Amino acid sequence: MTKMLKILALLLVITTVVFAAGCADQGEEGAEEGAEEEMPTYYVGTEAQFPPFEIVDDEGNIIGFDVDLMNAIAEDQGFKFIYQDQDFSGLIPALQTGNIDIIASGMTITEEREGQVDFSEPYINAGLALAVTVNNEEIQGVDDLQGKTLAVQTGSTGFFKAEELKEAGIVAKIKDFPHVNEAIEEVRIGGADAMINDIPVTNAFIAAQPGVIKVVGEPLNSESYGFAVREGNTELLEKINTGLQNVRDSGKYDELIADLPNYMEE
Ligand code: GLN
Repeated sequence: MTKMLKILALLLVITTVVFAAGCADQGEEGAEEGAEEEMPTYYVGTEAQFPPFEIVDDEGNIIGFDVDLMNAIAEDQGFKFIYQDQDFSGLIPALQTGNIDIIASGMTITEEREGQVDFSEPYINAGLALAVTVNNEEIQGVDDLQGKTLAVQTGSTGFFKAEELKEAGIVAKIKDFPHVNEAIEEVRIGGADAMINDIPVTNAFIAAQPGVIKVVGEPLNSESYGFAVREGNTELLEKINTGLQNVRDSGKYDELIADLPNYMEE
């Protein structure tokens, strides 16, 4: 009988210990979930066909310099984000209507866009360049574009530059496409004489697919990329700017730049 009681007592102790441990576990999990819930989540819009800044990898993940930099800023500032891949020309409207909170898409800071969104501090320099098929000897620069057809990405700074050249009576026709690779394809098949696009991105396409197009002439301008938030969203803008500064100060920014292939110009 005594033995029986001892066994029962032992069982009771074991049950209590196991139960208590279970509760403790749950408690910790609960606390973790709580912390995650407190971390704000932002929707980041991007047009993920713009290497080396954003591109979809074989597993369907969006990767690239903008993603790495956003990751570093988010880690520094304690927020999470979800990427949303969409056409470039729809990014500003999506930001304005609240479908997304941030644009991270190799977006150039321009005066016109400054009137529609709030930009972060510039995070990288780029610029536009003209490209033609590798065999084209006729077009050596903008001066040779008289009466020619240009292919560009819809709503991009390359598109606006093409419009300027058309208004000036130089370029005859503009064909615009949602993605840069489609503009390149148009030049390849002879549907357009040349294309205008961001230099590092054109160079990335050339590196990935040599023998199709080449860059000609001098860079057409110099541009700076910024992250964009809705007008007046100073709280988020401050987080991005502070995070960007911290990422620069810590040396992480230089690491990310070093990861960009050496075709990236300063
Ligand atoms: N930098 C160019 C612009 O802002 C192109 C950006 C892009 O196509 N992702 O218009």
